[in-house]
Amino acid sequence: MARWARRLVENAAGEFYVDDTCIDCATCRVVAPASFGATTRGLSYVHAQPQDAAERRRALMALVACPTASIGTAGCAPAHEGVAAFPEPLQDGVFYCGFASEATFGASSYLIAREGGNVMVDVPRPAAPLVRRIAEMGGLDRLVLSHRDDVAGHGRWHDRFGCARVMHAADATGDLRAVEQRIEGDDPVALAPDLLAIPVPGHTKGSLALLYRETFLFTGDHLMGTEDGRGLHASRGVCWYSWTEQVRSLRRLLDYRFEWVLPGHGGRYRAPSAAAMRAELERLIAAVA
Ligand code: SF4
Repeated sequence: MARWARRLVENAAGEFYVDDTCIDCATCRVVAPASFGATTRGLSYVHAQPQDAAERRRALMALVACPTASIGTAGCAPAHEGVAAFPEPLQDGVFYCGFASEATFGASSYLIAREGGNVMVDVPRPAAPLVRRIAEMGGLDRLVLSHRDDVAGHGRWHDRFGCARVMHAADATGDLRAVEQRIEGDDPVALAPDLLAIPVPGHTKGSLALLYRETFLFTGDHLMGTEDGRGLHASRGVCWYSWTEQVRSLRRLLDYRFEWVLPGHGGRYRAPSAAAMRAELERLIAAVA
């Protein structure tokens, strides 16, 4: 729970604040950019207090999503409005789960609600309200794990819903050996007619992207949007396996059609069309290669 006595001096005066336990995962800046920004010393802070009910709701969502409970309110406002907002619908049955986990350094996770069985991508905190809501939505058929970093707590979701965990074999070490489906090699694997698992080695050897309905690409930490949502980004600074392989994997994504990039860390990016996404991906590849 955030503590008023440990609030950052940079916070704008008012109801919301961030304290010094922030780990700079950027979740609040993605969820509520009108209220949260980055300090020059690697923490988030309240750069502007919410100006209306919509901004206050986003700030409460950031409070709930924060993996370290580093966001507080001066009056200890009840967070139920933020809790009830998750899973947050994005488009066409795709939801952002919120409730980020400190064990995944605040990675984003997503829910795909679909007739053939719901799919979760990466792992949120198993908070009771989120588990209950997902149960009401039909539970989980599959849990796709993008890479070894963003999967802490996968067993809790598997045990609750009996979902099959899907992961690339190269990252399925330690307790991840227990996953039910391992993807081998570099070739894409159709999990269903609308779901394609695409190996994207680079950030880790077993990084895996998931393409849904040729529209939504879930990318783990392979590819992300910039925090301002204006373009794509790939981070050499957090490439743990091979930057050469990561750039090669970025090039392979040019073979696919998609309009959204939904990452584990970093901003989401939605292009106005698949052609525009391709052009932005080509720009990124030229910049980083
Ligand atoms: S969500 Fe929490 S931990 Fe992450 S940057 Fe914001 S305040 Fe810091």
